[in-house]
Amino acid sequence: MYTLNDKIKFMTPYEPISGDYQTRLDANESFLTLPEDIKAQIQQAVGKIDYNRYPDPYAKKLCKAFADAYGISPELVTAGNGSDELISVIVNSFLQKGERLLVTEPDFSMYRFYGELSEAQIVKVPKKDDLSIDADALIETASREGVRVICFSNPCNPTSLGLTRGTVRKIITSVSALVVLDEAYMDFWEQSMLGETEKYDNLLLLKTCSKAAGFAAARIGFAVAGKPITTAIRAAKSPYNVNSISQEIGAVLLNNTPYLENCRKIMIKSRRELEEKINRFQEETALFDTVYESCTNFVFIRTGKARQIYEKLLERSIAVRQISGYLRITAGTEQENQAVLNALREISREIE
Ligand SMILES: *Cc1c(COP(=O)(O)O)cnc(C)c1O
Repeated sequence: MYTLNDKIKFMTPYEPISGDYQTRLDANESFLTLPEDIKAQIQQAVGKIDYNRYPDPYAKKLCKAFADAYGISPELVTAGNGSDELISVIVNSFLQKGERLLVTEPDFSMYRFYGELSEAQIVKVPKKDDLSIDADALIETASREGVRVICFSNPCNPTSLGLTRGTVRKIITSVSALVVLDEAYMDFWEQSMLGETEKYDNLLLLKTCSKAAGFAAARIGFAVAGKPITTAIRAAKSPYNVNSISQEIGAVLLNNTPYLENCRKIMIKSRRELEEKINRFQEETALFDTVYESCTNFVFIRTGKARQIYEKLLERSIAVRQISGYLRITAGTEQENQAVLNALREISREIE
């Protein structure tokens, strides 16, 4: 009889919030949909694909469009089937079985998930009480434990907090581990290390089209690093990891830089508005303990009533993310932001 091994036996498939909720503010997606002229460009590009051929293994056109949009060299860029796939490839290839992967807590859960799957040893560094990264503890732990890879998001999902470039540089130069810096949300802040990847031989930066670029459906992510690391990732990834359709349409999107810049501004404005509304709400009621200062497109809140509020929002067809004693609310359209606030006001009267 065939039996599953212990590693996979107790795993359960990923389940995003399912159900038809009117307002979806649970996955940090963009609320902006593509304009008709870009959709037309996409249709044209898709019309020219040779469907009988395998995709370009190095996604050259896509990587060039990304590099041009961000003002870096395409030679430093590797495309992935979402940055999620790249995290998997990196954790699987830059760590050998039993070697140590350092993650901070709380942070994006995929680092740990792939780490465990690849039989790395996970070393956790808790965030400070204010949820900021404890850079000194991280550096100290990395050297004491002989850590080989460090993964963290900046700005952080879920805390929404950012670490300044100065502190990130200090981490990179103080450790001998590979630093995987996930800048999925850096389009909403201005402390990117993208221009400095060649300066450090232990820096690997991750970007995605799933958030500010509003292209989550196409599954496009990028790894940016100096030559030796880039060559290693290209060697370790599966050859045809990004399909031809995503390569073509991603290049179209990334060549529309004024549009992307505009999206970024609109989303930042929406987050500021949501943040202001939530801050005002916090002053009026006793429902929230802390509203964190966001560097992202979502607002993170500490509250003893997280579960209750989450469920009562769902009853009103509003989906947000609940993570133990916290709520993470993605900024949406003006109407969506207002809908959450109206719902929160009602809920506060019910449960206070
Ligand atoms: C959303 C997100 C990503 C993006 O993943 P994709 O696979 O590119 O969609 C990566 N890192 C963090 C921290 C995220 O929140």
